[in-house]
Amino acid sequence: MAREIKTVAVIGLGTMGAGIVEVFARNGIEVVGIDANEEAVARGRGFLESSTQRGVDRGKLDAAAREEVLSRVTFSADMAALAHVDLVVEAVPERIELKRAIFAQLDEHARPDAILCTNTSSLSVTDIATSTKEPKRVVGMHFFNPATVLRLVEVIRTVITSDEIVEAVVELSKRLGKRPVVVGDRAGFIANALLLGYLNHAATMYENRYAAREDIDAAMTLGCGYPMGPLALLDLIGLDTSYAVLDTMYKQGRDRLHAPTPILKQLITAGLLGRKAGHGFYTYEKPGSGRLVPDAMSALTAEPVAPGEAAPIERVGVVGSGDMAIGIAETIARHGLPVRLIARTSERAAEALDALSKSLHKAEQRGRIEEAEVGAALARIESTAGLDGLRDCQVVIEAIAEDLPAKQAMFENLDEVCAPGTVLATTTAALSVVQCAAATKRPADVLGMHFLSPPQDVDLVEVVSTVSTSPQAVGTATALCERIGKRAVQTADRSGFIVNALLFPYLNDAVKMLETNYASADDIDTAMKDGCGLPMGPFEVLDAIGLDVALSIQRELYLEFRERSLAPAPLLEHLVQAGYLGRKSGRGFRTYV
Ligand code: NAD
Repeated sequence: MAREIKTVAVIGLGTMGAGIVEVFARNGIEVVGIDANEEAVARGRGFLESSTQRGVDRGKLDAAAREEVLSRVTFSADMAALAHVDLVVEAVPERIELKRAIFAQLDEHARPDAILCTNTSSLSVTDIATSTKEPKRVVGMHFFNPATVLRLVEVIRTVITSDEIVEAVVELSKRLGKRPVVVGDRAGFIANALLLGYLNHAATMYENRYAAREDIDAAMTLGCGYPMGPLALLDLIGLDTSYAVLDTMYKQGRDRLHAPTPILKQLITAGLLGRKAGHGFYTYEKPGSGRLVPDAMSALTAEPVAPGEAAPIERVGVVGSGDMAIGIAETIARHGLPVRLIARTSERAAEALDALSKSLHKAEQRGRIEEAEVGAALARIESTAGLDGLRDCQVVIEAIAEDLPAKQAMFENLDEVCAPGTVLATTTAALSVVQCAAATKRPADVLGMHFLSPPQDVDLVEVVSTVSTSPQAVGTATALCERIGKRAVQTADRSGFIVNALLFPYLNDAVKMLETNYASADDIDTAMKDGCGLPMGPFEVLDAIGLDVALSIQRELYLEFRERSLAPAPLLEHLVQAGYLGRKSGRGFRTYV
């Protein structure tokens, strides 16, 4: 049986330490909170008091329970105060020399049988452990921010840690209502190793003025259902902490995508550390607050093209008869605009209309729309074969197969048929929009409108400008998005735009992690859901979207950026070759009945 932990000490009462103190105290454990000096101790006590008060204000904690929680915690600026505790969690800043110094002091102050944990996000637990006389009692206990909310605890076992210590920390984590996952000592462990590369990439996009910060964040919250956008998350984690994690990961793996992007260092040097400083990528009401206030930095995040005046839209053409075309046509019609859906043959046109009608009725059955809306939407849709029906459309959205020659031939035809000034949009997910534009004699009118699947439900459209796209075309496409209830985010014409360029390398990294047997698919999925609040784990996402789709997007990204670490994971290639494509084939990373 694992030994029982009744008293703990937490060293460092900052972003993480204060939250960890609260987690212990709320679960009936006596806590000693320690920081470097009286001022820092007072700040740590303040964090606990205001956080528990917020719990009372929100009805999650009653006043008596709050008093009880507070009564379990004592504070000190002196390490001698931890002499009696069963377990210590260190949560001081992410600097190896500082952590080693603290652990060396623990030899002197902690009980000889006390368990010594570090909350490091990326430093080597082995390195930290060897600064003590007894490294076998040192283990990583990595909580996630905010510690009171996120359920994951990564328990990091070094080659020296004793089994009994690992078992005790696993049991303790469960007692705290957390989900422990035991892993070996590798930079970033599971969650940060997968998360930080993605966050760094988002910061690079911002730095290169590829898209505005609000657009990058909206792309991931609306496009992938993430609880926060990457730049807001960097602010929450703290830019100094994020930098430290990336730096360690880069030094260990030499993966260029982990080299901290220069803007991080600049913001840190300027003291803009994120929420805790009141400034980071965004500006907050006050240090520690999550409430955003407007700032002048928005002006720095130039959009690729400043949208011009929108042309009036009376009718939209949608070309294609697959799921995307049908979903887009349905969305537009539901929002009151007439649509012409153009299929290759009259049979396909009739089938598409049938599928669209079924989808509308399904939405009605699910209570998403009223019965009257079904009829009204259907009355706005015509479905025909032949491009002539596009002559009186002000915007035409092409949603045919993801095949460049086919798309180019289509744009050549659209150029001939459509009235001058018609905005010609492609829904391509990964091909370059300018190659479609080049097939026409009017490249200024061509742009990308990347709807995400299913278009009826995902409230995001990436509006992609090429080097030739006119501001008017962007203005008209943006106005159309607004009219049909979608948030338009503007991006330049680079493979993957925002969402796929951020999502797929992360999924590919998860496959590479699995391939090296560092963690199982279940543990990786758990880590990303319970540690980062993502709605699905990477293997759940891959099986849902199809491994073949993921592989082809990853290949495009690799071909565009020629970055070695973007090369598709061999395991992904092998699974696709074996026909294991995910849910649709009954087997992918998991087997489905
Ligand atoms: P922070 O800067 O918010 O807090 C660090 C605290 O340590 C401060 O209160 C500081 O006064 C105190 N401190 C500094 N020197 C000390 C000393 N000699 N003795 C005692 N206390 C000292 O940092 P943070 O974000 O809470 O990170 C702490 C640790 O937790 C790091 O190892 C970090 O990698 C890890 N971590 C951070 C996050 C996150 O999202 N921020 C998540 C998980 C783990």
